Amino acid sequence: MGDVIKEEGAFYSKAEDYWKHVAPTVDGMLGGYGTISNVDINGSKKFLERYVGEEEGKTGCGVALDCGAGIGRITKRLLLPMFRTVDLVDVTQEFLDKAKTYLAEDAKRVENYFCVGLQDFKPLPGRYDVIWIQWVIGHLTDDHLVEFLRRCQGGLRPGGLIVIKDNVAFEGVIPDEVDSSVCRDLDLLKRIVQRAGLGIVREELQRDFPEEIYEVWMLALR
Ligand code: SAH
Repeated sequence: MGDVIKEEGAFYSKAEDYWKHVAPTVDGMLGGYGTISNVDINGSKKFLERYVGEEEGKTGCGVALDCGAGIGRITKRLLLPMFRTVDLVDVTQEFLDKAKTYLAEDAKRVENYFCVGLQDFKPLPGRYDVIWIQWVIGHLTDDHLVEFLRRCQGGLRPGGLIVIKDNVAFEGVIPDEVDSSVCRDLDLLKRIVQRAGLGIVREELQRDFPEEIYEVWMLALR
C-alpha cells in the first residue's frame, strides 16, 4: 500500500476535509446508499447475536465502542439495543454533535463521544465487550490499522470481540481519491489482522447488497 498513499499527512487531512462537507444524515454516512441501511443492520445483528448474551461463555452486554461512528447509525439500531452503554469515536465533530439528537432518548446511555482519528485513539484498557469498526478502516494506513487493532485488543474485556465490517476489493488495493481512502482485498486485510496478533473467529459475506458496490465482509476477531 506504500505506493498507493503518497503522503500520509495529506491522506488524513484530505479525508477529514471530505467528511466535513458531507451531510450528517444516514444517506451521507452511506455515500448515497441510505436505502441499504436496513439490510446492513439486520445482517450485523444476526452476525453479532451469535456471540453476545448474558449466558456463560458469551461476550457480555455491557459496553460497546462504535468506531468511525459518524452520526451513530449503527449505535442507534445495532449497539444501543444490545448493550447497556455505548461509546462513539469519530474524527468529525459535526457528526458526533448530530448523534446527540439522532440517538434521541437513548443518547443518555452513550457515555463518551470521542472526537479523534482512530490512528490516534487509545481505548481504555479492558473497557469493551464489543468494538465495532465499520466503513472506516480504509481511512487508515496499514501500519496505523495494525497498531489501532492492537490497542483495540487491549481495550477488550475478557471474552470481548472486535468486529470489522467493510468493503473488500476483488484484488489488491484500490484508492479512492474523492474521500481519500483505500479498499483492500480480503487477503491483505487478513494479513493486517494477523500482524495485529488477532485471530479470526468468523468471516461472513454480507448478502443482498446492490451488485454494483464492493463486497462487504464481516470479520469477528479476538
Ligand atoms: N460507520 C458509520 C459511518 C461510516 S462513514 C456507518 O456505517 O454509518 C465514515 C466515517 O468515518 C465518517 O463518520 C468519518 O467522519 C469517519 N472517519 C474518517 N476517517 C476517520 C479516521 N481517521 N478516524 C476516525 N473516523 C474517521
